[in-house]
Amino acid sequence: VAILPQPILEVIESLSSLPGIGPKSASRLAFHLLRLDDNTLKRFGTQIQDLKNNLVTCQRCQNIASNDPCDICRDSSRNQSILCIIEDALDVVALEKAGHFKGHYHVLHGLLSPIDGIGPAQLKIAELEKRLQTEKIQEVILALNPTVEGEATVLYLTKRIGALISVKITRLAHGLPVGADLEYADEITLARALEGRRIVKSSE
Ligand SMILES: [Zn+2]
Repeated sequence: VAILPQPILEVIESLSSLPGIGPKSASRLAFHLLRLDDNTLKRFGTQIQDLKNNLVTCQRCQNIASNDPCDICRDSSRNQSILCIIEDALDVVALEKAGHFKGHYHVLHGLLSPIDGIGPAQLKIAELEKRLQTEKIQEVILALNPTVEGEATVLYLTKRIGALISVKITRLAHGLPVGADLEYADEITLARALEGRRIVKSSE
């Protein structure tokens, strides 16, 4: 590997820092990039460079969007009384593709994971509490992945929300395989999990 020129080594190092990309894939991708024509490579570089500049966080739902408030928050045809809490922006994509949910979202930007130093303060929970106190929400759906972190977050939020306001709290039905990622569930499974959601806490 030491034979490779420094610029290639640096690109390989950056690529292998991406999730799911090992050193071998990173090398293959780096050499693939080298074979691209100048314009394509330049456009690719500019897209990465501008990625964050052209995006904002919606101050209502905390989703990553092109504008604030985002299109979903601005859509008056959506049901304002149902709030679906999800881990990240990709879960919004998965649920929107499944097409059954017509309420609003709140993106946590992660799940509780004390081992990784992620506590309530690292997630968008304060923003969630503010919404619960100011918006007329009747049901909160905890649509979190059935992982250890997901379960811990469901328990924490059920307690925290329950102490804050009287609202119905539900979670997705089993049917999502344990440890599975919401974003990889097929649309029918996801729609069923949403339809068959279970009550964790009634509004009383
Ligand atoms: Zn929004």
